Amino acid sequence: MTTRYRVEYALKTHRRDQLIEWIKGLLAVPFVLYSQPTGIFETNGFSITRMSEEAHRRYAEIMRDVEFMIDDHIAHQAESISVPSKLKLLVPPVGTFFTRLPLEAAFKFQDRKRFISSRRFVSPSFNDVRLILNSAQIMAVTTYGTLQLATFDGDVTLYDDGESLEPSSPVIPRMIDLMRKNVKIGIVTAAGYTTADRYYARLHGLLNEIAQSTALTPQQRQNIVIMGGEANYLFEFCETSPHLLAPVPRERWLTAEMASWSDTSIDALLDVAETALRDSIKTLSLPATLMRKDRAVGIIPSDPNVRIPRESLEETVLVVQKILELSVGGRDFNNKVVPFCAFNGGRDVFVDIGDKSWGVSVCQKWFGGGEGKMIRPEETLHVGDQFLSAGSNDFKARSVATTAWIASPAETVELLDELADFMGKKIS
Ligand SMILES: [Mg+2]
Repeated sequence: MTTRYRVEYALKTHRRDQLIEWIKGLLAVPFVLYSQPTGIFETNGFSITRMSEEAHRRYAEIMRDVEFMIDDHIAHQAESISVPSKLKLLVPPVGTFFTRLPLEAAFKFQDRKRFISSRRFVSPSFNDVRLILNSAQIMAVTTYGTLQLATFDGDVTLYDDGESLEPSSPVIPRMIDLMRKNVKIGIVTAAGYTTADRYYARLHGLLNEIAQSTALTPQQRQNIVIMGGEANYLFEFCETSPHLLAPVPRERWLTAEMASWSDTSIDALLDVAETALRDSIKTLSLPATLMRKDRAVGIIPSDPNVRIPRESLEETVLVVQKILELSVGGRDFNNKVVPFCAFNGGRDVFVDIGDKSWGVSVCQKWFGGGEGKMIRPEETLHVGDQFLSAGSNDFKARSVATTAWIASPAETVELLDELADFMGKKIS
């Protein structure tokens, strides 16, 4: 596995997931007051069992209180009450919730797995809270409704950064299992290839298994699409194609809103982005060349063996993003007429037309059953790793779907096991 390190940059200090940080802060109070670190050298009268039971009870109470606060926030959303909810006052960036979140139950579930309450030195962490929220979301989409669509990011979510889905990947049987249960699957990736062979190279393990699996009916083999370039290239499964994928012409899948983005506006936006990228190459002396596509523009290393420093990539993303937002063109589009997404792809930087919220919407429409019907946000789960860093393209999916934030392909596997478990419980 490649080493991943976070670049420290000005943005990081104010880009935090405030809901997670806030919950972590609430859990820190009982931890500070009741954890007993001295228990390791003072044995008289100390019981680790009692301590962990007490911590468990208090953490669970807090999670229940937060759960009720989210319920109140959802009530405000539903009635479009103009005064903000208490949660909104406490955590201003908090967005829309498509389902309630059973946080107390999710905490108890994760505490059994992670023994959060038994720790005496390490307080409930960001990752603990992130995983509790994921479990709560999985419980919600299987309990209050029926999951219809699961969308997945590619890099870091299904496979390690820059790698591909090999036949041995443990995520493959779990995805097949979802398809077998008639859950639709969309792979919504930033990788903006225009031809099937490139996606086959990245996803061959899964595609071959879909073609061969005896668990799937011919109908169920169509329960998957690949959405590339965030929201720009759609491929459906096709047994007779050499790469098991067939491109779907845009007029068959563009949503009404996307169809209204004119070619002129798209070109104008890409022109502004192209100029900004060329400037970055000059300013930072990047060993990079420009690449323009019909729906994207980016920079790639001029020599495939050379890596552009991570810091330069991030700098370029932030500069281009700001220029697009502030330029006459950018303001004209105001991110409403033609939305865009600037992101660091690990080795390159790209500006794509649209973003993952549009990509997930396309999947919701594709599998919605026709006549403009869409699978609803509360019936959709998007799984991804980019919810915080520059460009954070999975974050955008939050406006159209429930989400789970994972940190590695191994976490995706664990999440899918949880999902299968809860789906099974619901059926019985
Ligand atoms: Mg990713």
